[in-house]
Amino acid sequence: MFHTRRDTATDCRRRRKEAKSRCFGPTTPPHVGAYSGYGIPKLASRPGTLPALVASLLLLVAAAHAAEAPPPRPLDEVRAVLAQAPAPPDTDPLREIRIVLLADAKDHGAEEHDYPLWQQRWRVLLGGSQGSDERTPLNLYGPPADPALDGRRGAPRVRVDTAWQWPSRQQWESADAVVAFCYLPWNEARFQEVAAYLARGGGLVLVHSATWTMPGPSERVAALTGVGGFTSYRHGPVELQIATDHPLCLGLPPRLSFLDETYWPPTPAEHAARIQVLASSRESLGSTPDRVAPQPVFWLFEQDRGRVFGCVLGHYTWTFDDPYFRLLLLRGIAWSARESPYRLDALALRSARANGVKH
Ligand SMILES: [Zn+2]
Repeated sequence: MFHTRRDTATDCRRRRKEAKSRCFGPTTPPHVGAYSGYGIPKLASRPGTLPALVASLLLLVAAAHAAEAPPPRPLDEVRAVLAQAPAPPDTDPLREIRIVLLADAKDHGAEEHDYPLWQQRWRVLLGGSQGSDERTPLNLYGPPADPALDGRRGAPRVRVDTAWQWPSRQQWESADAVVAFCYLPWNEARFQEVAAYLARGGGLVLVHSATWTMPGPSERVAALTGVGGFTSYRHGPVELQIATDHPLCLGLPPRLSFLDETYWPPTPAEHAARIQVLASSRESLGSTPDRVAPQPVFWLFEQDRGRVFGCVLGHYTWTFDDPYFRLLLLRGIAWSARESPYRLDALALRSARANGVKH
């Protein structure tokens, strides 16, 4: 069952409020993002007035539309993109990379913020079923796709470990890339742990909720990851402008459409100049049309030897089955682990949402 857009927005506020009460966040005051999507201006009138009711009806109509999964990508188009990447490195032996997938309890409705499902499915997508008879599907959205033998193999020389709420000390010490898809319960000890991890050359990949800092944007998080958090969000169509000249975007079209959630603007603002933006969407910074500006949706940040890859999308399960989303995220993971960004490209289409994909 799909949630309506109004349900989704309300759920976001409620869940963030709940999460705030249980996280060990920085001391900046809570600042839950203003709802400002679809170009509908924020209501100036009191709840219950006619303009407010009309606007609410508009939101509901838009909601029904927003909750539909987008159509699958054309398979031939995706294959043409993949064909532009250089062949995987043939170094023998291939360097083993250790990836930790970090998740937490699900905190939104159906098809939203499904961290446990993502962790379960991507553990097999990346690392394979590791010799067991386990038949875990690789897709998050819709009925389980038949996990063909190819899909259960994982990527060559990739070892996957999982963590719940926060990686163990041993995981921080041994990982090449930690991929976080959940709100991150930052505290002083954890700032220091991540700083040490990045200083030794670790890779950190932040997906959706992990880029939204609780209880509010943080200078400390910005110093470590390039983006300290956000203050606004909306659910709906996302039109990305892609930095096609960057190696991580090799082959991708200059514009890509998604149906997901965006966060913006990077806060505190002064840190935003330090990130390298791979993809952006135009978002409203106020109630007038002239206050629309590109906002980072995928970005890179390097400090010392550490590499951080940020990804705002990931609200809905179907986004993880989108081969272009997968390609960007997989390249971000490989890049953060100091590997060829194309090393995991072959996973982009396994059980993905593309017309004609054979699972
Ligand atoms: Zn979300």
